[in-house]
Amino acid sequence: MAYDFDLYVIGAGSGGVRAARFAAGFGAKVAVAESRYLGGTCVNVGCVPKKLLVYGAHFAEDFEQSSGFGWNLGEADFDWATLIANKDREINRLNGIYRNLLVNSGVTLHEGHAKIVDPHQVEVNGERFTAKHILIATGGWPQIPEIPGREHAISSNEAFFLKDLPKRVLVVGGGYIAVEFAGIFHGLGADTTLLYRGDLFLRGFDGSVRKHLQEELTKRGMDLQFNADIERIEKQSDGSLKATLKDGRVLEADCVFYATGRRPMLDNLGLEYTGVTLDDKGFVKVDELFQTSEPSILALGDVIGRVQLTPVALAEGMAVARRLFKPEQYRPVDYKMIPTAVFSLPNIGTVGLTEEEARSAGHDVVIFESRFRPMKLTLTDCQERTLMKLVVDGKTDKVLGCHMVGPDAGEIVQGLAIALKAGATKRDFDDTIGVHPTAAEEFVTMRSPVGA
Ligand code: FAD
Ligand code: NDP
Repeated sequence: MAYDFDLYVIGAGSGGVRAARFAAGFGAKVAVAESRYLGGTCVNVGCVPKKLLVYGAHFAEDFEQSSGFGWNLGEADFDWATLIANKDREINRLNGIYRNLLVNSGVTLHEGHAKIVDPHQVEVNGERFTAKHILIATGGWPQIPEIPGREHAISSNEAFFLKDLPKRVLVVGGGYIAVEFAGIFHGLGADTTLLYRGDLFLRGFDGSVRKHLQEELTKRGMDLQFNADIERIEKQSDGSLKATLKDGRVLEADCVFYATGRRPMLDNLGLEYTGVTLDDKGFVKVDELFQTSEPSILALGDVIGRVQLTPVALAEGMAVARRLFKPEQYRPVDYKMIPTAVFSLPNIGTVGLTEEEARSAGHDVVIFESRFRPMKLTLTDCQERTLMKLVVDGKTDKVLGCHMVGPDAGEIVQGLAIALKAGATKRDFDDTIGVHPTAAEEFVTMRSPVGA
C-alpha cells in the first residue's frame, strides 16, 4: 500500500525533531505534527528558559562577591519583566531555528493537534494522513497532586510567564525542577521555602551530594523543610495563599509552585484506536527498539518514561531514524553512564554509580572525597564549599561514579563522563595531569581514600 508518508512524527520536541530530521536526511518522506511550540518542552518551558533564569539568579552572588575584588556596585536592582521579555525573545528566535531545521531538511510540518485514528493514520486539523510508521514523541506534562486548592498552585509551565516575581514562594517537591526553581526564586530575591515529603531531597542522587547541597542552600538562607507536605491551599481576600500542611502548620505565600513529577502527554492522542499499551506507571510501553505493542507505532522520549532528559530523547530519536531508514548505521542507545546536572545554585554534576548504588551492587567500594573553598571565594566573605567525590571499585580500580556540587559542576562532569564511558581507572585519573589553578583539577589529585 502507498502511504502519504514513510514516517509520521507526533510532537516536535527534542526527540521528535531529531528523528524527523535524520529520517528525512536518510531519504524518507516525513511529516511532523506539533500542537503547541516548536522545539518542545526543552526549548519552550524546560532546559533553555530554565538555564537563562538560573544565569539571571546567579548574578546576585556575583554582585555580592565582587566587592572583595574591589568593585563597588551600589544597590543592585532586579527587574523580572525585563528578564522574562528577553527570555521570550530568545525562545522565539529558537522556535524559528527549529522551523528552519525541519523545513530545510525536507520535513512536512503540520501545526495542530494530532490524533491517531488507526494504526497507519493520523488526523490533524480535520485532515487525515497515512503513514507506514507513526512515532509518538509527545513528551510529558507537569503533575500536581489532587489536593483541595490545587487550582491556586502553578507548575514550571506557568512559572516561566509570571507577570511579577512573587515575594514569597513555596516550592513543593524534591527533584530536579523543585531544587532548580527554588534556586531561581531565592537567587532573584523571593523569600523561598522548599517543602519535600521525605527526609532529604534529590532521592537517587549520591548521599554526600544531597547532604552537601542541603548545607549549602541552608547557608544561603533558603528555608528547607523536609518531611513536610501540603494538605490544602486556600486563597485569601488579599490574593495571598494559605497552605495548610499535613502536620497542621500553616504557611503563607504569594505563589505555590509544584514540581512533583511529570506524566506522559497522551491527551486525546487516540491510543484507543491502536494496540499500544502502557506500563504500570502509565507511560507508553516499548521494547528495546522503541517499538510499541502496535507494530506500526513507535515511541520515544519522555512519553516512554525511561530517562527524562533531552540528550536521551535525542539519542533515542537518532536510533529510531537509523533503524528504520539507515539500518547499517544503527547503534542501540546505551543508558549506562548518562551524565546529568542539576542547575541548582550551586550546581550538581554527576555521572555513574552513587556510593549507595555501588555498595548495593556488591562492589568493593573505595571512596575519595574532597571538600574545599573555591579559590574565587578566598577574597570574599562567602563560606560556600565545593564537594567532589569519586566512587571506585577496589578490586578492578575502575572509577564507577563521579559526583560534584559546586560552580560549573555540569560543565566539568561532561568530560569525566567520557573517561568513565571509556572505562577509566583511578590510576588513569591519578596519571592525568591537572589544569592549574582550577577546581576541576581536584578530580585528579585526590590521593587518600575516605577512612584510610
Ligand atoms: P517534548 O520536548 O516534551 O516534546 C513533545 C512535543 O509534543 C511538545 O512540543 C508537545 O506540544 C507536542 N505534542 C504533544 N501531544 C501532541 C499531539 N497530540 N499532537 C501534536 N503535538 C503534540 N532535560 C535536560 O536534559 N536538561 C535540563 O536542564 C532540563 N531541564 C528541564 C527543565 C524543566 C522545567 C522541564 C519541565 C524539563 C527539563 N528537562 C531537562 C527535560 C527535557 O525537557 C525533556 O526530557 C525533553 O524535552 C523530552 O523531549 P521529548 O521529545 O520526549 O518531549
Ligand atoms: P522528579 O521526578 O525529578 O521529582 C519529583 C519530586 O516530587 C520528587 O522529589 C518526589 O518525591 C516528589 N513528589 C512526587 N509526587 C509527589 C506528591 N504527590 N506529593 C509530594 N511530593 C511528590 O520530577 P521533576 O518534576 O522535578 O522533573 C521531571 C523530570 O524532568 C526529572 O526527573 C528530570 O528527568 C527532568 N529534568 C531534568 C533537569 C536537568 O537535567 N537539569 C531539570 C528539570 C527536569 P519522592 O522522591 O519522595 O518520590
